[in-house]
Amino acid sequence: MKNTNSRKLGLEVIGEVPWGTHLCSFYDSINDYFDIIKPYFKTGLENNEFCLWVIPKDLEQEKAFEILQTAIPNLDYYQRKRQIEILSHSECYLNKGRFDGDAVITNLRKMLDKALSAGFDGLRGEGDLSWLGTNRWRAFKDYEFELGNTMFNKKFLTVCSYPLKKIGAKEIIDVIENHQYALIKRNEKWIYAKSFIDMVDKLLEIQSHIKGENIELIKQGAAKDTFFNISSHEIKTPLTSIKGYTQMLIKEQLGTINEQQKKALEILKRNTDFLEHLTNNYLSLAQLQAGTMKFMVEKIPIKSLIKDTMDIICPLADSKKIKIDVRLTEGLPPLNIDADKIKQVLINIIGNAIKFSPEGALININVKKKNEYILFEIQDYGLGIPKNEHEKIFEMFFQSESIRNKNIKGTGLGLPISKTIVEAYGGQIWVDSKIGKGSTFSFTLPINLVKEIKINLVK
Ligand code: ADP
Repeated sequence: MKNTNSRKLGLEVIGEVPWGTHLCSFYDSINDYFDIIKPYFKTGLENNEFCLWVIPKDLEQEKAFEILQTAIPNLDYYQRKRQIEILSHSECYLNKGRFDGDAVITNLRKMLDKALSAGFDGLRGEGDLSWLGTNRWRAFKDYEFELGNTMFNKKFLTVCSYPLKKIGAKEIIDVIENHQYALIKRNEKWIYAKSFIDMVDKLLEIQSHIKGENIELIKQGAAKDTFFNISSHEIKTPLTSIKGYTQMLIKEQLGTINEQQKKALEILKRNTDFLEHLTNNYLSLAQLQAGTMKFMVEKIPIKSLIKDTMDIICPLADSKKIKIDVRLTEGLPPLNIDADKIKQVLINIIGNAIKFSPEGALININVKKKNEYILFEIQDYGLGIPKNEHEKIFEMFFQSESIRNKNIKGTGLGLPISKTIVEAYGGQIWVDSKIGKGSTFSFTLPINLVKEIKINLVK
């Protein structure tokens, strides 16, 4: 059966996309711009879609029509059928010279309804942003975000085209954040990047879907086939390569870069680290649920465990000017653990401490021997957690009421996964916290190898 949700884009670089896809393209010259426009609209018109084209600021409507006609000789016919509308930027985006994102979205919704009731399959749009100046950047970024939400699940496709000459590295990242695909021409070939944020969104989407509808199924272990089939290889291999190349670019191993490029790459690196951390938690959950998580046991010196963790976490702390003070008792014995798993626990806890602390705060990490165990303590002076939630925060998908309105990102996976890992190695994990004063997360790991690794996934 034909999948009616999937549409041909008409572009060589991306074949089909589902309705609701929000793309962006970065172009250098007007020829590059038309590289996308011509096949994009040709395919839309041939596939019974209503086409809305918001043309570049410096292009007259008549001229735009003529250029498009070179690729679509019967463009007149489609125009008579009222299947294509060509607007100037001010007709589409401005109202008496003012940009009002909500009004634009309302208009687009109306256009979509009209297109559907006229018998078209949906709306295919393209908007050129050569008119957009820095003064309207914020408002437009919010509009792009809302547009993505509005289009979701609707018979709507759109490409937002940004001229590279008018935007800098920061703006490029803003744009990529709000689109599912970013098209760019490199060495005479169009390539696309599927944005990192999209990957995060996809994961969050899967999570919230599961949270809302399938939570019972998860408890029964029956959702394995959907969510848990994500292959770690498919996600981690590209991430590792992105990280590796970003690092090489920052270190100027591939040529010199300027300050602005360096800043953009550092943001990219932080986002990739965050995504990797998130992915690790999702994959751990998948493997724990499917019973395929491997717990290796190796003798690991605590010093190197902490150093490796710090290498990952310090850029995140630096971005909030947070100081981390590590105290390690001398002469601690090595641990019999899987270093990657315990690093994941530490990153989850220290990452939270950073996330819930104000800028410039201090975080203390203490590692010492306590009886037959090594005790790790991570203390922050951040938001704190109300007493009635001290146990709940270790439950799957739990997020405190107190942070819901604070626009703090999270998944509610870090602590339950950490608890499952620590307990599998025969340790314990707990929190001591006062609202407004801060929190201390502690966990223990036995010095002697546990006889049997028991996995009890926290529910
Ligand atoms: P999340 O991805 O939401 O941080 P976690 O499982 O790591 O998921 O944490 C669950 C919840 O516990 C958080 O949403 C937050 O409410 C609370 N929490 C965890 N660590 C801290 C902390 N250091 N300070 C304040 N609250 C915290």
